[in-house]
Amino acid sequence: MATTGPPTRNPHAGVPFTDDDTTIAAMLEDVSVPALMCAMVHVTGDPEWVRGDIRPQGLFLNEYQGYMPEEMKAEARRRAAAALARFRDGGCALPPPPAPAVLHEMMTYLACADVDPAVVPMFVTDLNLDGADAYAITWGADLPAEVAADAPVVVIGAGEAGLLAGIRLREAGLPFTIVEKNAGPGGTWFENRYPGARVDVGSHFYCYSFEPADHWTEYFSRQPELQEYFERVMDRHDLRAHTRFGTEVTACTWDDGAGRWVVEVRTLDGGTDTLDARFVISCVGSLNRAKWPDIPGLADFAGPVFHSSAWDHSVDHRGTRFALIGAGASGFQIAPTIADEVAHLTVFQRTAQWMFPNPNYHLPVPAGDTWAMRHVPFYGRWFRFLTFYPGSGLSIENSRVDPGYDDGGRAVSAGNEITRQLFTAWIESQVGDDPDLLAKVLPDYPATGKRTLQDNGSWLTCLQKPNVDLVRTGIERIVPDGVVTTDGVHHPADVVCLATGFRHTEFLWPMEVRGRAGRRLHDVWGDRPAAHLGITVPDFPNLFCVYGPGTNLAHGGSLIFQSECQVNYVMDAIGRTLGGGHRVVEVTRAAHDAYVDRYRTEIAQMVWAHPSVTHSHYKNARGEVWTVSPWPIPNYWTWTRSADPGDLAFA
Ligand SMILES: Cc1cc2nc3c(=O)[nH]c(=O)nc-3n(C[C@H](O)[C@H](O)[C@H](O)COP(=O)(O)OP(=O)(O)OC[C@H]3O[C@@H](n4cnc5c(N)ncnc54)[C@H](O)[C@@H]3O)c2cc1C
Repeated sequence: MATTGPPTRNPHAGVPFTDDDTTIAAMLEDVSVPALMCAMVHVTGDPEWVRGDIRPQGLFLNEYQGYMPEEMKAEARRRAAAALARFRDGGCALPPPPAPAVLHEMMTYLACADVDPAVVPMFVTDLNLDGADAYAITWGADLPAEVAADAPVVVIGAGEAGLLAGIRLREAGLPFTIVEKNAGPGGTWFENRYPGARVDVGSHFYCYSFEPADHWTEYFSRQPELQEYFERVMDRHDLRAHTRFGTEVTACTWDDGAGRWVVEVRTLDGGTDTLDARFVISCVGSLNRAKWPDIPGLADFAGPVFHSSAWDHSVDHRGTRFALIGAGASGFQIAPTIADEVAHLTVFQRTAQWMFPNPNYHLPVPAGDTWAMRHVPFYGRWFRFLTFYPGSGLSIENSRVDPGYDDGGRAVSAGNEITRQLFTAWIESQVGDDPDLLAKVLPDYPATGKRTLQDNGSWLTCLQKPNVDLVRTGIERIVPDGVVTTDGVHHPADVVCLATGFRHTEFLWPMEVRGRAGRRLHDVWGDRPAAHLGITVPDFPNLFCVYGPGTNLAHGGSLIFQSECQVNYVMDAIGRTLGGGHRVVEVTRAAHDAYVDRYRTEIAQMVWAHPSVTHSHYKNARGEVWTVSPWPIPNYWTWTRSADPGDLAFA
């Protein structure tokens, strides 16, 4: 007998509430007023909320109030509180949703500028305003059971990308195994447990588009909360039974006759096993294999030495003389966190980092904002848009090298010079009257040329503490009791932490991947790894890379969003293969080469590839970039919406 339950409430429509007027008004004190104004369009059905004089005055990444004056925000809150009280009294029933044209208007309202109609579909899809998961796989139901059963998939890695692949494969009804070398899910956020580890893309965007996002306790969550999130996602989607933890894929070999991959794995106890796969999805990450520096004497150090991604929590760093080697993205978070705990902190930094201000970087999400995320219809969605839109590649043109612009290597274009001035002003505002420190912390290469960091002042405050030294002189060697720099100075140390980054240019390392005719992927790539859309490589059929070559983001976005694009493409390619009665899919040489040519031409014009940017983890030994995307996020989203059959050969 068919059963009918109550209609399911759109998960973004908010949990109905009965709070009194005073509580509502108090809660609204904590919210982003621009996002609230958009939510009120949903609550009332009236677009006038985004058509009046109450509107954001400007847009900047992570500036949630749109620079609205206090009186304007107060008036907005007063009006919204009254409307929410009426909404409550009406049983929290929503009027019909805003029309597409109104959604566009709301985006333009938040962006403080016309949002290009061409990019609207990407944001609409990401916002999932209809409550459905826009990327959910539905084609599995049409596959004959024996076809699905004969198409086992091995996913390598259970970071955010591997979990996502698992979610989609489960929806498709294909048999799959996730193989993960760690003891739990989360990848980056399972491993990087150093003090101060936190995301630097706003949490309400650095999460899956289809999962609830009203729980984050900080705007930029710390590692434990991120790891918990991935554990929860894994359980919600029943992925544990499909996952082999503590198991590392060592090799994948294509069997052309069978049209299948032979996947070799090694368990922690040294045991080996072989898995059969029709398809392999590599989700091994790109910042997963630690890079140890080649410093003479490192092995002779008498105290503990560990990499930041494998922080040794058995070592009590309190009261020690602590040497932090490397101050890129990880060291930048570690130093301010431990400075007050150690006796002395010496930070060895090869290159100064550009950074921009983010006052919300360490802030908890206040109770009112959490209340609004949970109860005010679609508020959380528009907050996500506010976090996503400014970093979606709008300003990527500032990163393009203007060949006619020559100022001796300080900037690569007039726009890039403005960015340099903005960033410089922020650094100067904190260092002020200390010219020696200023000289050490001001980068000498164009702004945004390397991974740009963000700060709420903690980094530069830390460097000004009496027990902290920033050393910019190169390291000559490590001795049992410290670090000796090339100027002969001995810096005493009890503990050495290597915050020296990852083998970012060595995709899929150290796996041995052999495709058609035994060709080794690493021979094919050499030091120029490339793939069509960063995902597929000719001669390596039925193999897909997530977070592959040329897909890292240096100009905004979130890697989780990037994975949603890639996994969407991968699943579409698999669906077309099986749905078309094929067993094998491979990118054509022509499609691959055309893409790679475009990539190469484009990336060479961007600041990340500029010769003035040295010691960049984005670059290979030749100074070329094969790691980051040169394109705005909406372009990549469009290209990965579906797997173009014209680019693929099926067999
Ligand atoms: C400290 C740090 C901070 C970061 N902050 C941000 C941020 O703020 N915003 C952002 O967008 N990105 C950030 N990143 C990038 C981050 O890597 C991505 O956001 C995201 O975690 C990538 O997910 P992933 O699943 O692709 O890879 P990972 O998270 O790296 O996961 C890969 C998984 O594959 C497993 N694996 C690898 N090789 C094998 C093998 N051979 N066999 C079995 N398992 C294997 C690994 O153990 C790991 O669990 C940060 C990275 C680091 C290191």
